[in-house]
Amino acid sequence: MNLKSMMAISAVVLSSYQAVAQKSTSPKKESFNVMAESFADLQVLRYQVPGFEKLTPKQKELSYYLYEATLSGRDMIYDQKSKYGILLRKTIEAIYGTYQGDKKTADWKKFQDYCGRFWFSNGNHHHYGNEKFIPACSPAYFQSLIMHCNATALPTAKGETTQAFWKRVEPLFYDMSIEPKCVDLTAGIDNVVASSNNFYEGVTQNEVEAFYNTMPTTGNAPSWGLNSKVVKENGIVTERIWKSGGMYGPAIDKICYWLEKAVTVAENPKQQQTLELLAKFLRSGDLKDFDDYSIAWVEDTDSKIDGINGFIEVYLDAIGKKGSYESYVSIKDEEATKRIAAIAKEAQWFEDNSPLMDEHKKKQVKGIIAKAITVIAESGDLAPATAIGINLPNADWIRKEHGSKSVSLSNIIYSYNVASALKGTIDEFGLNDVVKNRIKQYGALASDLHTDMHECIGHASGQINEGVETTDKTLKNYASCLEEARADLVGLYYIMDQKLLDIKVMPSMDVAKAEYDSYIMNGLMTQLTRIKLGDNIEEAHMRNRQLNAKWVYEMGQKDNVIEFVNLDGKTYVQINDYDQLRKLFGDLLREIQRIKSEGDFKAGQALVENYGVKVDQVLHNEILDRYSKLGIKPYRGFIQPRLRPTLTGGKVSAVNVEYPTSFFAQMMEYGKKYSFLGVRN
Ligand code: ZN
Repeated sequence: MNLKSMMAISAVVLSSYQAVAQKSTSPKKESFNVMAESFADLQVLRYQVPGFEKLTPKQKELSYYLYEATLSGRDMIYDQKSKYGILLRKTIEAIYGTYQGDKKTADWKKFQDYCGRFWFSNGNHHHYGNEKFIPACSPAYFQSLIMHCNATALPTAKGETTQAFWKRVEPLFYDMSIEPKCVDLTAGIDNVVASSNNFYEGVTQNEVEAFYNTMPTTGNAPSWGLNSKVVKENGIVTERIWKSGGMYGPAIDKICYWLEKAVTVAENPKQQQTLELLAKFLRSGDLKDFDDYSIAWVEDTDSKIDGINGFIEVYLDAIGKKGSYESYVSIKDEEATKRIAAIAKEAQWFEDNSPLMDEHKKKQVKGIIAKAITVIAESGDLAPATAIGINLPNADWIRKEHGSKSVSLSNIIYSYNVASALKGTIDEFGLNDVVKNRIKQYGALASDLHTDMHECIGHASGQINEGVETTDKTLKNYASCLEEARADLVGLYYIMDQKLLDIKVMPSMDVAKAEYDSYIMNGLMTQLTRIKLGDNIEEAHMRNRQLNAKWVYEMGQKDNVIEFVNLDGKTYVQINDYDQLRKLFGDLLREIQRIKSEGDFKAGQALVENYGVKVDQVLHNEILDRYSKLGIKPYRGFIQPRLRPTLTGGKVSAVNVEYPTSFFAQMMEYGKKYSFLGVRN
């Protein structure tokens, strides 16, 4: 599972984290520019890797091998999203790299924007909405580009003329009826046939389901179908496995080549075993090997360098079987992990002292193992658009028997926050200098602490009454919103507790106030920038934030705990009584836990529908207007750092990290260096 949407994009960060980051890298750090190119609805950002310099030479060498393994799989995500993905990518790479004509025209700019969008989405379907997009320049102009680039660079078939090649690819680029939607989740249709991704070909949803229904699901069954394409051969439904010697073999072999080098410099025996098992799985394609690897991976908690590489999340498959290729390599963020551990250690204290009714408190709390990481590089489905939190493995039985690792991507979150600060969200929506400065100083730490408590304490807290069914049965479609609301409220209630000062994870109560200001501002106002005027709120996390913020606003009205104020025609929120607000968060937490513990569907439904769904259109309109003037793009992704080895006598003697500045240049560089799969002609 991963968390792709930003929790509190409005929180800004110029806090202690920055001080840590600055200490650990070059002195030029302050001048690091997080902003790179922007086009269409996309903003490209950059991130740094604080702490890389402090790794031992062996850890750097290990990072380098895993980094190469990460990028070596990149082609697979293009092919998974469309069977034409690599063909089209190589076509635009050929034009972008070799076209000799005028590059100052409006048409060229349109073509260039198309390239940017294509690379950002790993193909010609929007990375978020999944719908196909086409170039804004005309087909005639596109054709002229093809005719005036280096013909040998084009991915033409053997003996095919450039003219014939254009005829073949034009509809793939321009015809909206060809592969209109990468993933189509519409109810009541054949989602396998309607989704144009390359997980299935020539088979119906019924055929696929019948095929997998024959496989045993009892005991510790593997995640059937995770690493294959389903096709029909001679009328029989069968799988093409993604493995060495199978589909995607050349890319997988390259990954294994680097993994096997990594094995030789592993930090400890557990990590060595983990890497060996991963290579074994990628070579064999046997899902039992994948489970063995996943168990070793979750048990490897000591290693400083860590990551994943393979077929993991199933969001890209409408029927949730096929794993998209994704990979990252990272360094453990020791400071942030210490903070999480300090909180997790007190899980029982938090439970015992919570505002829950006694019968709903857990007598024995087990915290979740969580750590913070600094990302070195990402690829596949994690790049350029990335998650900010990842919780793996996905197999339920492994989670239950061996646990899971929950990671938050510190340096990525940091870059997001700096970008938001630069764009002035806080300056526009913050009430006054006291509030703005407090958020600027403590917002990052506040949001980190809130997230830590949400994950480690919140989700693990509380118990369901005996005889009451699980919440997916009792609370149905409101279950996930109420669960997120509950976890958020635990974070909000405890961030203003003396306990956090006592265990020294927080320097002052101003951190808590910064969190209250950010949370209320986001829940009542700024998160509305992510939905269209006239729409209600659908997404569970957004509903929960408005539910929490609106409920405490209404319940506190008689004491004027929170109020809307109007200054120079602009609306702001003002918190008048932080202690009273904390008490209200506690009251709502107690009530939502009661709803969960008793399975009270009616009360849960009323809370979500009354507070979490509807939007005040006048306020929404004002917010959208103010936000649009800040010029912020709705979607953001990243340029990856580059690791450069120094070779002495054929051996890696040093590794340095570099920070490329151009997304377009990086995409061209990757296209040349990490293209291991052929074009389907
Ligand atoms: Zn959550």
